[in-house]
Amino acid sequence: MTTKGNKKGFSTRAVHSGRGFVGNTGAVMPPVYLTSTFAQGNADGFDYTRSGNPNFRLLEQSIATLEGAEHATCFASGVSAITAVVSSLKSGDLIVAEENIYGCTYRMFERVFAKFGVQARYFDLSRSENWPQISALKPALVWLESPTNPLLKILDIAGISALGAPVVVDNTFASPFLQRPLELGATLSLSSTTKYINGHSDCLGGIVATNDAAWHKRMVFAQKALGLQPSPFDAWLTTRGQRTLAVRMERHCANALALAGWLEKQKRVRWVRYPFLPSHPQNQLARKQMSGGSGMITIELDGDALAFCRKLELFTLAESLGGVESLICHPATMTHAGVPKAVREQVGITDGVVRFSVGIEDVADLIADLEQAL
Ligand SMILES: *Cc1c(COP(=O)(O)O)cnc(C)c1O
Repeated sequence: MTTKGNKKGFSTRAVHSGRGFVGNTGAVMPPVYLTSTFAQGNADGFDYTRSGNPNFRLLEQSIATLEGAEHATCFASGVSAITAVVSSLKSGDLIVAEENIYGCTYRMFERVFAKFGVQARYFDLSRSENWPQISALKPALVWLESPTNPLLKILDIAGISALGAPVVVDNTFASPFLQRPLELGATLSLSSTTKYINGHSDCLGGIVATNDAAWHKRMVFAQKALGLQPSPFDAWLTTRGQRTLAVRMERHCANALALAGWLEKQKRVRWVRYPFLPSHPQNQLARKQMSGGSGMITIELDGDALAFCRKLELFTLAESLGGVESLICHPATMTHAGVPKAVREQVGITDGVVRFSVGIEDVADLIADLEQAL
């Protein structure tokens, strides 16, 4: 199966790639290879599931075609994928990171890899006046995330990649349907497949896609040497989930755009942040590098935000995002509870901020639910 050279449309690739290993059964979809080990000398070159399994290869092929990449390597979770990338650095290496990165990435930099001499420095990389820091510091890696969590900042992937340092983009919030970092010049595109790629909130996973053979070797090494591999069943579930990525993302985008526009007109809503609304500070950049605004909306409410969350019926108050079902998150008491209040508020995460992961339900029902809760 060709990956990067595959000229078929996105949806066709999502449906038709990653369908091998059916033997002579004629099965239209591949089986789950629930085996820990393989007989020596088999034609496909498998030895032990920590270093490879047919279900990993199928998932890696399909995500590589979606990211427009030569290679992809699958992991047990998004955090495992981040571990794989950071563990490839060595003591003394510097990471320049966007200051609004995912909390677990920040925690890993500061509480795990800092102990081994990998240093991270943080800048607001949505401001191009901070980019000369990248040219001056010559980091081993630039760590981007776009859109960011929960404020949905958009970073200029092509502009930052053109500075020459290797760039990794956490593409989780956009998914490869809406944004392909490697085509914009990034070295690595990383996703928590737990979110949009699998899309059904029934397993964890992570993936790293690249066109760089040396980085691919490092990812394969990390998968087996650090024990970061997923289970074959989770790889199978994720391969099934990604087949419908295009149709799900189209609905997530349409629902979120309609909801965001509706929210902007509500008196109790102080502000609405959604990349494809004209009011978003980087709306033009978002439209340049993404083909849709995705399903995430962040707003600030007047009054008790937690009471509002609890009154909703179709939006479950829960962490995570990107599933078919709508969720709502109150960052101040959930994802960012560990951040001191003053620090949180300084970056805009007040007690009134709530983040929606807009699902693929009927948008009229979602709006009615918000209306009764407001
Ligand atoms: C959820 C998430 C991760 C971590 O992924 P897990 O699968 O939960 O380990 C990393 N980055 C972003 C942006 C995420 O939303």
